[in-house]
Amino acid sequence: MAAAVLEAVEARAAGRPVQALRLRVGALQRLDRDVFDQAFALVGGGGVADGAHVDVVEVAVELRCRDCDHHTVADELVTACGSCGAHDLELVHGDDLVLESITVAGLVAGGQEVR
Ligand SMILES: [Zn+2]
Repeated sequence: MAAAVLEAVEARAAGRPVQALRLRVGALQRLDRDVFDQAFALVGGGGVADGAHVDVVEVAVELRCRDCDHHTVADELVTACGSCGAHDLELVHGDDLVLESITVAGLVAGGQEVR
């Protein structure tokens, strides 16, 4: 995950040093900050994102019921609709991995989908 994020950051930074970046990460990604920070420092060391502050916004799991259109929000994947109990659910949010923005020379630039 760290390598994919770095790739997106580098593409956005275009060689400019990155001071900070903001990620939107779904709960299903099970992001471990310590592990991610270590991995990111490892792959990003010496590059444009070396020492960049990483801000993570966690996104809850959201499922839409194909039967009644009810949206169920939870911390983890659920298999039944919170309203009608149907099992025909569509994942709306939860596996997100989005680079929301990067900060370059004090300016915030828009990000992109990492995957
Ligand atoms: Zn339903």
